[in-house]
Amino acid sequence: MATTDTAAEDALDELLRDKARIAELPSDDDEEESGPPFPGKQCRAKRVKPEPPAWLSEATFSLFHDDYKTISSEAIAKTTAECLPLLTIRDARGLSLNSHGLPHLRTGQHADFLRQPLGNLPAGFAVMDASRPWLFYWCTAGQSFLGEDVSIYREDLIHTVRPLQNKTGGFGGGHGQLSHCACTYATLLALATVGGLEVVDREAMWHWLGTVKQVDGGFRMAIDAEEDIRGAYCAMTALTLLNLPLELPPDCPAREAGLTHFTDKLGEWISTCQTYEGGISSAPNHEVHGAYAFCALACLCILGPPHDTIPKHLDVEALIHCLTTLQTTPEGGFAGRTNKLVDACYSHWVGGCWALLEAAITPPHHNKQQNGKTPTTVSKPISLWNREALVRYLLTCCQQSGPKGGMRDKPSARPDGYHTCYSLSGLSAAMHHYAYDAAGLDKDAVSGRLLAAFNWKGRRGTESELKSLKVDEVDVVGLVHPVFVIGFEAVERARLQFEKGEF
Ligand SMILES: [Zn+2]
Repeated sequence: MATTDTAAEDALDELLRDKARIAELPSDDDEEESGPPFPGKQCRAKRVKPEPPAWLSEATFSLFHDDYKTISSEAIAKTTAECLPLLTIRDARGLSLNSHGLPHLRTGQHADFLRQPLGNLPAGFAVMDASRPWLFYWCTAGQSFLGEDVSIYREDLIHTVRPLQNKTGGFGGGHGQLSHCACTYATLLALATVGGLEVVDREAMWHWLGTVKQVDGGFRMAIDAEEDIRGAYCAMTALTLLNLPLELPPDCPAREAGLTHFTDKLGEWISTCQTYEGGISSAPNHEVHGAYAFCALACLCILGPPHDTIPKHLDVEALIHCLTTLQTTPEGGFAGRTNKLVDACYSHWVGGCWALLEAAITPPHHNKQQNGKTPTTVSKPISLWNREALVRYLLTCCQQSGPKGGMRDKPSARPDGYHTCYSLSGLSAAMHHYAYDAAGLDKDAVSGRLLAAFNWKGRRGTESELKSLKVDEVDVVGLVHPVFVIGFEAVERARLQFEKGEF
C-alpha cells in the first residue's frame, strides 16, 4: 500500500503544479549521483515518476476540437470534463493504483460482476429477455478473459440454451422466439467458451443459414429481417466454427439466382458497405460505424488470409484513416461514429480492428516459414494506434471504486456486462499482439473448410511493452482471439470438435 499511495501522491503533486505541460519536477529523489558513490553509501534506485502523456496537455486538446457548437460538441465537452480529472489521476475515486500510478485492473471484482447475470436475475431484466444469449456470451467470455474457469457453466448453459434452439435451425433470444443471427452468434460463442457446442443441431443450422443468405451476397439477420454486415459476420462465424458445408442447401432461395455457396458475392457485398468516409456502414449507403468495421474485417478474415481478402475488398488506407479519427482526444478511448462520444465498448469494436488491419498490410512472407524454417529475423510488428491511451481510458474512467466491479461506457454511466466484456477485450487488443500465421492452410483441400480464421496467433505483451502501457503484471488480461472474440483455447476446441465436418 505504501508504494501505491506514494505513486498516487506523486501523480497528483505533478499534475497540480502544472496542468498543461508535462514536466519533470525536481525533487530530492532526482538528484543525479556525480561520480562513483561514496564508499559505504548505498546507491538509491532512481524513482520513476508517472508522467501524464502528451495527449492530456491543453495544447494538444485544442488541436482536435473546434469552437463550433452543436449538441454533439457540447456532449463531447461534457464527457471530456468528466474524464479529465480521472485520466490525470487528479481524482482516482479511491481506486488502488499500480506501480506506474494508474488504477489496477479490478480483476476479482469484474469477475464477480460477470458471475451475477448467470444466476437468477431481478424482474427489471425482463426487458433483456430477447438478449439472453448476449448475457451468456458477455459473462462467460468476459470471465475467461480474466482467467476464470468457465467450464463450471457448461451443463447449465447447455440446459438453458436448448429451448432457445428452433427445430428449423438457429437460436432465438428467448423461449419461442424466431432464430436470429445475433442470438445465434452469441449463443455459439458462449457454448464454445464453456465447451458445450455439441448441443447445436448443425444440420438444421445449415438449413436455417441458407434461408438468410441473399442473392446480392449478404445475409439477413433473420428471415425477412434487415440485411446487414452483422448478419454476414455472424453467419460466417457459425459456418466456420461449426464446420458446416459451404454449399448452399438445396432449398436456399439464393440458389434460384444462381448462387451455389455461402461465400458467393460476399466479399463484393462487403465492399459496397464502405462509404465516402472510408469507414464501414451496416449496409450500403448507411452511416459509418465502428462496430460494422469490425464485422466487415472479421468476416473478410474468415473468408481468407487478411493480406488477401481485406485489400481485395476494401480501401485499406481510407479505412485506417477513418478508424484513426475515432480514437478520441484527450480520453484515448474510441467513439463509434464521427463526432460522437467516447464509449468503452468501442475499445473492442474499433480497438479490435487494428490487429486485423495490421495483418492486412503486413507482407505475407513476414511470418511464413521458408523451407520449413521460421525466419530468423522478424521485423517489429506494425502498430497503427495508441494502445497506451486506450489502456489509460479504460483503467481510469471505466472502473468504479467500491465493492462492486464491472466496467462502464464512461464515468457517468453504470457498469454492465456488455461494456465489461468489450472493455476487457479492448484491453487485450492493447496489451498483446496478434498476427496471422501465413504458414497455415487457408482452406482444407478435401472438405473446403475455411481455415484462415484459425491461423491467428497471439503473443503476450513483453515486460517492456507492458511497462510502456503502465500496467503491472496483475493488470494483464488474457489473449482474445481477434476474429471470434473468445479465448484461443475455445476456438481450437471448436476446430478440433468438428474437424470431420459430417452431420
Ligand atoms: Zn457502449
